[in-house]
Formats: sequence, C-alpha cells, structure tokens
Amino acid sequence: METGRMLYEGKAKKLYETDDPGLLYLTYKDSLTAFNAKKKAEMAGKGELNNNISAWIFTYLKDRGVESHFIKRIDDLSQTVRPVTIVPLEVVVRNVTAGSICRRLGVPQGTPLPRPLVELYYKNDDLDDPLVLEDHALLFGWADEADLKKIKRLALQVNELLIELFSSLDIDLVDFKLEFGKDRDGRLILADEISPDTCRFWEKGTQNSLDKDRFREDLGDVLGAYREIWRRLSKRGR
Ligand code: C5P
Repeated sequence: METGRMLYEGKAKKLYETDDPGLLYLTYKDSLTAFNAKKKAEMAGKGELNNNISAWIFTYLKDRGVESHFIKRIDDLSQTVRPVTIVPLEVVVRNVTAGSICRRLGVPQGTPLPRPLVELYYKNDDLDDPLVLEDHALLFGWADEADLKKIKRLALQVNELLIELFSSLDIDLVDFKLEFGKDRDGRLILADEISPDTCRFWEKGTQNSLDKDRFREDLGDVLGAYREIWRRLSKRGR
C-alpha cells in the first residue's frame, strides 16, 4: 500500500489517501489539545497509545457486531480505515455527570444518571461545538430521521459494551464521544477514535481520572494514565 495526498489534518490525527480508493491511512499525532485547542501540548508516546487503544476497542466492538471505519492497525502510529463522509455531529453518551453538563446545568460532578443520556453537539470548531436538538440536525440536513434513530441505537449499544469492558478492568465509564460517518454504500458506521482523549474513565468507585481530564485540569501524569488504560486493555483477552 502506497500513501498519497493528505486529505485532512485534525488536532490529534492525519488522514491520507492510499493507492486503494477503498482504504485510507490514518496516523495518530503526539499532540494533546483541550478546550477547542485553546490549550495545547506535545506528549511523546501519546499517539502510539491512542492508536493502540482505539484499534483494540474498535476490534472489540466489531467482534460484537458494531461496524466502524477501522480496518487494521498498521504500525505504532497508524491504521487503515474505510473512507466515510462524517456526519457533523458529536454524539456524547453520559452515565455519570462530569465536565460540560455540570458547568451548563449546575449539577454536581459524579452523580450517576438513572439511565444513559445521549447528547448531540454540532461539529463546528468556530462555534465551539454547540449542544443541539435532534430537530436542528433534521432541519439543517445534518442527519435524517433514520440516521438519528440508528445513531442513538448504536451509541447506547456501544455504551453497554464499553461499560462491561471497562468495568472488567476496574474502571467506571463516565462518558464518551462518538462520531459517525456514511461509507461509500451510504451505510452509517462508527468513525473517528475511542481513546482516553474521547472518554472519561474513573478508577472504579473513585473520581480518579485516567483520561484527558488529567491534561484539562493539570492533574499531572497524563501519559501514565493513558499507559494504564492500555496496560489493562492489552492484558485482557478480547
Ligand atoms: O466536555 P464534555 O463534558 O461535554 O465531554 C463529554 C465527553 O465527550 C468527554 O469524555 C470528552 O472527552 C468527550 N469529548 C470529545 N471531544 C469533544 C467534546 C467532548 O471527545 N469535542
């Protein structure tokens, strides 16, 4: 496989064409950003950890019937993925209150929700990814009824699978963000990444963060937390 033109450079990844039109090459960067890139750092080794963690989780989900753009881990920093047109929605699932929901609604951090909450945010850096209603997505044509129904169903299914997975690693899954895309046949599948950059993980029964909150809140040992997630995942059978 030959890599070609860079199609996209995001805050944490770069995406390249390959000589196969059905295959893209995704490389993970060592950059860490928070608050819509207002806070930035470079952390040697972070790209490799997220590449490994995301590849592991997408494979775990695939084995349980959840399709994603992920095809194969290629090396420490890269994987091949299927081309998709990204739905411009960030889909957040919350099990316990933390982060923006506490700031927005004044609820205390660490309150378990009676059932998982699925929120939609419009993917737009200039607007700081605002929270939107399903009707906004429908009326502005970001997704149709069938897409939204499937997005919600898949988000809740992924949540159940990840709660079970992380619980077996003595980790509470507080919340996470998913992205979806349409493949060349118009099928809606999971895309982007699932990693400590996109999830909140708390050491079971505590509020001790093993994720990007260590960077957001200057808690120290960011990479140590990412390494710990990878250590627990990689020693567990899929
Ligand atoms: O900031 P907030 O509390 O809304 O984040 C909810 C979850 O979604 C967190 O796990 C966070 O890491 C993730 N997220 C993300 N990318 C964003 C916004 C949130 O991965 N742009």
